[in-house]
Amino acid sequence: MSPHILDNALGAVGNTPLIRLDKVAAQLGVKCNLLGKIEFLSAGGSIKDRIAKAMIEAAEKEGKLIPGQSVVIEPTSGNTGIGMAMACAIKGYRCIITLPNKMSLEKEAALRALGAEVVRTPTEAAWDSEESHIGVAKQLQRKIPGGIILDQYRNVNNPLIHELTTGPEIIDAVVSTPSTPARPSSGKVDVVICGAGTGGTITGVSRAMKRTHNKECIMVGVDPKGSILALPESLNTADNGAQYVVEGIGYDFIPDVLSRDPMDVDSWIKTDDEEAFAAVRVLMRSEGLLVGGSSGSALSGAEKWFKTEAGQRVAQTEGMNVVLVLADGIRNYMSKPWFLSMALEAKPSELFGAIAEALKKE
Ligand code: PMP
Repeated sequence: MSPHILDNALGAVGNTPLIRLDKVAAQLGVKCNLLGKIEFLSAGGSIKDRIAKAMIEAAEKEGKLIPGQSVVIEPTSGNTGIGMAMACAIKGYRCIITLPNKMSLEKEAALRALGAEVVRTPTEAAWDSEESHIGVAKQLQRKIPGGIILDQYRNVNNPLIHELTTGPEIIDAVVSTPSTPARPSSGKVDVVICGAGTGGTITGVSRAMKRTHNKECIMVGVDPKGSILALPESLNTADNGAQYVVEGIGYDFIPDVLSRDPMDVDSWIKTDDEEAFAAVRVLMRSEGLLVGGSSGSALSGAEKWFKTEAGQRVAQTEGMNVVLVLADGIRNYMSKPWFLSMALEAKPSELFGAIAEALKKE
């Protein structure tokens, strides 16, 4: 966090802390350092603030966004939209977000609070159909004068901003923390584990790690069962087409910004909703971290990866630094049945009015 006065909320994007997850490490029985990159502390509440700010500022520099004329339209699972809506509120652009129905009410509420217009789309629509969040955004762009889609799925500034900020922040935190007998450290980032949606985070962080810091750094991607981002493709076939509740990760197409180079992403782990949400609870109850669903996927992915051959070696080595990217916060999901039942430990009677009703309906 900056000690200086910031010009506006965009100055409070990123620069998030890396926090030890010692209790979770003990529960998993691992000797390595388990560290969480806490992205809900960014101004808009997620890792996606970084790309929203970067894509908008790059488009302004290139003269593609014109104040008073341009209308920013973006298909998103919500968090990129919140970052865009925040930037548009500050800079004075009209902002329209297309959002699949499965995404939380909290995200829509935050978007509307920031002055964005929100168009919901059917979750089950294939990405290349007219009705999907991507298809609807394209239709709106054709209709609305000044409409522009900065397109997080293709925009080079998406992986680039992670290469320039997320990755280096992780490296700086690890390198500047001394190794002590009580807390040994290899002095480098040995493993990074994160969920993939557009794939911008894993691709950009991988470039920062392997090109500038430690070419042996192992990058592990986490993909929900039912999505097709994992490699080898055989990992995806068992649950082909299955729906998943976790938000922000997984797709039915391969975004251009997700690197398919096996040198960039060393291995992929599949996780399901139940495991992810159980892991969110562990992060909240053991570490006091109010993280969202995909952060649970990252932890559950880590638990599974520690059981692989490479993972076991790392898990049993004191001082190795394993970083989990925890992409957003639980406040995005407080109306979701998975959160309500988890937080309440199946005691709906302790709940008040509307929340109890919501739970009963589920
Ligand atoms: N977790 C959450 C909650 C997200 O919103 C996103 C972005 N869709 C991700 C993880 C994945 O990030 P990326 O798009 O960079 O792969």
